[in-house]
Amino acid sequence: MSHRSSAFAEIIETAEVDIRELLSIPDNYRVLFLQGGASQQFAMIPMNLMKNRVADFIITGQWAKKACSEAKLYGTANVVASSADKTFSYIPDCSDLPISENADYVYICENNTIYGTKFHTLPNTKGKDLVADVSSCFLSEPMDVSKYALVYGGVQKNIGPAGTVIVIIREDLVTEDVLPGTPTMLRYKTHADNKSLYNTPPAYGIYICGKVFKWLKSRGGLEAMKEHNEKKAAIIYDYLDNSKMFRGTVVPVDRSIMNVPFVTGSEELDAKFVKEASAAGFVNLKGHRTVGGMRASIYNAMPVEGVRKLVEFMAKFEADNR
Ligand SMILES: *Cc1c(COP(=O)(O)O)cnc(C)c1O
Repeated sequence: MSHRSSAFAEIIETAEVDIRELLSIPDNYRVLFLQGGASQQFAMIPMNLMKNRVADFIITGQWAKKACSEAKLYGTANVVASSADKTFSYIPDCSDLPISENADYVYICENNTIYGTKFHTLPNTKGKDLVADVSSCFLSEPMDVSKYALVYGGVQKNIGPAGTVIVIIREDLVTEDVLPGTPTMLRYKTHADNKSLYNTPPAYGIYICGKVFKWLKSRGGLEAMKEHNEKKAAIIYDYLDNSKMFRGTVVPVDRSIMNVPFVTGSEELDAKFVKEASAAGFVNLKGHRTVGGMRASIYNAMPVEGVRKLVEFMAKFEADNR
């Protein structure tokens, strides 16, 4: 099937209509289906948006850190807040940040996949454009797109196959005024002007994203998804808050409903848990090396039953190892 065929036009156009409906994307935003995963955006954003070559970063984990390092290749990337002092276990107070006067944008990673924190309140950017990486919370709950200049996410956590990235960008930022040397393929304008069909797009990925948009709509949209995800998260957090063995690592007010890191306090016990959980079919529970312990990623696709089973397993492990 050619990506220029009417069959594919129908697939990509329907996908755009559906994500626009799901997120109530305002008309003055463009939706782009690109390649290179979320990490490609770490460079593409400064190349296109860093007109003054200055951007402010809020560092809440590895992904924000990586984006900040990449931006430094193109200009000055200021760290205006960070939660590195406590292993990124909280979201810094962002109500009155030292925003740079000439900052082209303020950058956040909205849900911190590794650390299990989420911005439940967006930072006060003092009028500057807000750019957010929503890779690990994309379509998990409603969001007000109009509060952002650019929102993007790799789709592999919640939506579709790895490699595809969806960029939602305010129209006035789609311009020819990019940093010198920005390749044609890395200009938002190239893809916006060609409706994401400048070259062969990640066609299979877009097809699957479209299917997932339909699935989300059939489940009642993002309000219903939020309810579903909050219910799942509450089951684990309630257990963690009452457990005498396990505890969550994140400050309760900043907890993510997608990624739930937890520890026992003993490295041996953590290792034993991960091993026994894996043998019982609960795979990929090992936490990131910088946090240790465990992490349950309970993205949209995870049913409530999966979370219940995990908590039952944890309770049994706790009883058996006291
Ligand atoms: C997974 C993830 C990424 C990296 O995505 P790639 O598609 O592998 O580049 C970036 N940001 C966040 C928040 C993620 O969860």
